[in-house]
Amino acid sequence: MPVTSYAIAIGSNRPGAHGRPEAEVRAAVATLGTVIAMSPVIATPPLGPSSRRFANAVALLESAESPADLLARLKKIERGFGRRPGRRWGARVIDLDIVLWSGGIHAESGLTIPHPAFRTRRFVLDPLLALAPDWRDPVTGFTMRQLAARARAVDRRPRRS
Ligand code: AMP
Repeated sequence: MPVTSYAIAIGSNRPGAHGRPEAEVRAAVATLGTVIAMSPVIATPPLGPSSRRFANAVALLESAESPADLLARLKKIERGFGRRPGRRWGARVIDLDIVLWSGGIHAESGLTIPHPAFRTRRFVLDPLLALAPDWRDPVTGFTMRQLAARARAVDRRPRRS
């Protein structure tokens, strides 16, 4: 397979062997392989009922692996960092998601690229905006710049009581 670009979202909300969540994020990026760019690590309030803040970043990775092979390797890395299985919102040392790849749309059992939830997640879109503002989502046709602007606009809407 030719070398492919992947955008990987990295999140942590639990200290692990490397220290605080930000240190876990950096350590995870260091294990990914040929990382050609990494966003700043940002602090994000928890999503769902977890009480811990997340550290989040996005890395651009070059790899000749297929999406399925890369996902299998990411799961192995997650296990190596001590993620607890079975708890959807539970504290996790490291979470790795494939957000985008240069191959467009990819769907197979258990793996969908672009990641189905990334368009509403500012902790993914804001780092992506810093790295690849002109990368176009093959599903909606919007660039990362456009998707980030839309997500910001939704966050600014007054909440209904
Ligand atoms: P989560 O616990 O939310 O990180 O979900 C992980 C599961 O989502 C994995 O076991 C994958 O099978 C599935 N999945 C589907 N699409 C993706 C993707 N683009 N990147 C990572 N995991 C994915």
